[in-house]
Amino acid sequence: MTEKYETHEHDVLIIGAGGAGLRAAIEALAQGASVGVVCKSLLGKAHTVMAEGGIAAAMANVDRKDDWRTHFRDTMRGGKFLNNWRMAQIHAQESPERVRELEQWGALFDRTQDGNILQRAFGGHTFKRLCHVGDRTGLEMIRTLQDRGVHLGIDVYMECAITRLLKDGDRAAGAFGYWRESGRFIVFKAKSIVVATGGIGKAWSITSNSWEYTGDGMALAYEAGAELMDMEFVQFHPTGMVWPPGVQGILVTEAVRGEGGILTNKDGERFMQRYDPEKMELSTRDVVARAIYTEAKEGRGTEHGGAYLDISHKSAEYVKKKLPSMYHQFRELADVDITKGPMEVGPTCHYMMGGIRVDAETAQSNVPGLFAAGEAAAGLHGANRLGGNSLSDLLVFGRRAGAAAAKHAQQVSAPAVDDDQVKEATREMLAPFERGGGESSYDIHHDLQETMQNYVGIFRNDEDLKRGLHEIQKLRERAARVRVEGSRLFNPGWHLARDLKSMLTVSEAVALSALERKESRGAHSRIDFPNYDEQWSKLNNIISRDGEAMRLSQAPVLEMPPELKEIVEQQ
Ligand SMILES: Cc1cc2nc3c(=O)[nH]c(=O)nc-3n(C[C@H](O)[C@H](O)[C@H](O)COP(=O)(O)OP(=O)(O)OC[C@H]3O[C@@H](n4cnc5c(N)ncnc54)[C@H](O)[C@@H]3O)c2cc1C
Repeated sequence: MTEKYETHEHDVLIIGAGGAGLRAAIEALAQGASVGVVCKSLLGKAHTVMAEGGIAAAMANVDRKDDWRTHFRDTMRGGKFLNNWRMAQIHAQESPERVRELEQWGALFDRTQDGNILQRAFGGHTFKRLCHVGDRTGLEMIRTLQDRGVHLGIDVYMECAITRLLKDGDRAAGAFGYWRESGRFIVFKAKSIVVATGGIGKAWSITSNSWEYTGDGMALAYEAGAELMDMEFVQFHPTGMVWPPGVQGILVTEAVRGEGGILTNKDGERFMQRYDPEKMELSTRDVVARAIYTEAKEGRGTEHGGAYLDISHKSAEYVKKKLPSMYHQFRELADVDITKGPMEVGPTCHYMMGGIRVDAETAQSNVPGLFAAGEAAAGLHGANRLGGNSLSDLLVFGRRAGAAAAKHAQQVSAPAVDDDQVKEATREMLAPFERGGGESSYDIHHDLQETMQNYVGIFRNDEDLKRGLHEIQKLRERAARVRVEGSRLFNPGWHLARDLKSMLTVSEAVALSALERKESRGAHSRIDFPNYDEQWSKLNNIISRDGEAMRLSQAPVLEMPPELKEIVEQQ
């Protein structure tokens, strides 16, 4: 059972090389810490690279009236007031500076006539606020952060997956993982750890998310004693591709609606008139997603069960300039020319508002030395995220997490790594090869995705959620007997067997929290409790580990100071 493994030591270990992880790494390096960044995929290929529409920051380059107060108000209203108000305040205040910094580091944004960063409209934002690079903003962001980080000297461990956090008493002490290519094990020792592993969308069958989104960071933190918060709030983006089947779920960026795209049903009716006559297509994502779903369910959907989204009233030149990826995506994947006719779109699982519960100032979890940022962390977005607020979240809280992690590393002694924990982590990884019987990880994953899609989806009720939880328990038992064939050399079935464990943990947390919240709010829609509930407006759901069991409790939503209350109440 004991196998030789390589070990590495850093002041700060960052798990994840998306926008949050890279921004954290840059900051920790700037504070003088030695930094290691581990990522499952290649550097530059993190999920952030897929971000399309833009970064929300109240720079007022296009709409002069915009300021942090309006951005704060929009974020709190979009999140239905379950947000951590302090995170929303920090985010609104610091985003413009983080975008300017990105520009200084070499990001080339689209420009206004007078040479400022151009900003576009997006759902739920009062003003034109999204700084963008056509519909390839994430690519420019990752390229810039990666260049900066490599230039500053981060140590990168790519195609390396972490499977367990190691602890020294109560504090975080390191991480255990494996190289995806060779299957060999690796141990990291670190004074501070930043979890920046992104979301959980691969637990659903229709999703815009990349293969990396298996909820690893949230599950690892949970297993290490960290609390998870607001796990019921899973965002279904209204516009994913619906046809052909092989591309179902791939995102159709909100920038299409931001640039004037119009939604209609099969009768040609602009149905958003009935759901949100004021904001129409630029209503918040939860409202538009439910509207499209309802139109299809009530028989007014398109041929393949979605809605039409049309931008062809704009000139072909404009569409190709502002939405180049969308143009190519539909041309190549669906044989549709979006400059000439409509796209077919429908809801797709997109973003996780819930995640690791952190402190607003430092991004530290309740486990000393364990920090979290980006989609893996909870708090900023409350019950529903506004488009563009994730990329600014990564910059603002990535930086804060990196700074606080470096500071923490200066203040503590080197932790000890417990050999028993490493042995246990090794045993867990090797077990699927050693079992006689058991099932393939692919079959179990398929069934989990169907379970989450059918019972823990866009509309929920008591019966479905209980059924979902029951199915998840059965899947857990099957996953405990999962069997892997072949060797440890690049073995995707083996990788998935481990990822399944994370997906089952986060899926259970989502279903449990969703069952408990007996109201509809933001992205959480209960058919059996269709309205807001005053009591629930004051509570966040908290998930924590109690031995082998998952415990659910509630914590009061933090009270907003009067001057901020005044801002959110203004018209
Ligand atoms: C198609 C699409 C378009 C989007 N467009 C926008 C937009 O325009 N504006 C906006 O604000 N938001 C957008 N979003 C959301 C936004 O892109 C994400 O929320 C954000 O990029 C998450 O960044 P992150 O740094 O938290 O994680 P990621 O960028 O996903 O990075 C996660 C990192 O963690 C690593 N990792 C995961 N698990 C492990 C493990 N076990 N061990 C080691 N490493 C691990 C991964 O390899 C990766 O490097 C979009 C999302 C999608 C899917």
